[in-house]
Amino acid sequence: MRNIYGIKRSDLEEYFLSKGEKKYKALQVFEWLYEKKVRKFNEMTNIKKELQDVLANDFSNYFITIEKKQEDKLTKKYLFKLQDNNYIEAVLMEHDYGLSICVSSEVGCNMGCAFCESGRLKKVRNLESYEMVEQILLVEEDIKKRISSVVIMGIGEPLDNYDNVMDFIKTINDAKGLAIGARHITLSTCGLIPKIQKLAEENIQINLAISLHAPNTQLRDKLMPINKAYKLKDLIKTIKEYSAKTNRRVTIEYVMLNGVNDNETQALELVSLLKGLNVYVNLIPYNETSHIEFKKSTPERIKKFYDILIQKGLTATTRKEFGSKIDAACGQLRSKEVKS
Ligand code: SAH
Repeated sequence: MRNIYGIKRSDLEEYFLSKGEKKYKALQVFEWLYEKKVRKFNEMTNIKKELQDVLANDFSNYFITIEKKQEDKLTKKYLFKLQDNNYIEAVLMEHDYGLSICVSSEVGCNMGCAFCESGRLKKVRNLESYEMVEQILLVEEDIKKRISSVVIMGIGEPLDNYDNVMDFIKTINDAKGLAIGARHITLSTCGLIPKIQKLAEENIQINLAISLHAPNTQLRDKLMPINKAYKLKDLIKTIKEYSAKTNRRVTIEYVMLNGVNDNETQALELVSLLKGLNVYVNLIPYNETSHIEFKKSTPERIKKFYDILIQKGLTATTRKEFGSKIDAACGQLRSKEVKS
């Protein structure tokens, strides 16, 4: 049975039409679900009883559950249990501009990046779109506040679960869904070129972030196996085409690994690689994990690297560190829960 939180409004309209009902019923159901936060069909009082029963028969509305919560001052980390006893996680972050949430898109991940905790545990399955929507709903319910931006940067490779992620984005972006503006939604990918090209055709104004992490193909091959399937030079070309087509600036994520990708020569290499692209670089302090030998770059090395990018005319920022004390880094909570 399909879960009601995984149905985008246009599909629910189709559903009602197929039942001989008016399509505005979809709007009414969305108002109950997302505005009034009413889950049960028999509490949707402007829907007639018989139709409530039909809905209850056709759609489930159960929730994933919060298994564990860890918090520090600006960060709350949630471990969720899914219906099939798999675990995923999301992280809530408090910024000056509001609350943002980092959601997972898959149970585990097959991309196998050398430095990443999520990739240590292989992909078990895709997340359904309702399981992504519910991460946000449950956290909003827990904190009794509205979340204003969403980053799809938790466990998983979102473009490896394309259709469900797109349905999820459409529902949270819907003015009658969670009404999160497209420009407040960021999708991060390790570089699945055909899917980036597909995304460019969607005509949505979300932010695209590319996990680059290396300024040349030799190093990227070592850090990110995906680079063997989709070559760096093709990825750069795809980014160029994407920003030309969508008129959007693309974010380049670059995780700072001490002594691995953070020296001055590599900064200059990155500058020439990105020359002429409509991008900005986000330098990410590495979140160390107990299982992986990589270390975070020292603040001095990050500063030097950043200064070179700026001097050479790139736009760059250094990401604020969140949650490193509470295992909020990318898959750490889940991997403690799942014995491997
Ligand atoms: N698969 C997608 C999204 C999930 S990973 C992607 O690759 O972009 C989100 C980001 O966190 C990626 O840039 C990833 O490389 C980075 N990351 C993974 N492990 C990290 C760690 N321990 N510290 C900091 N960033 C990390």
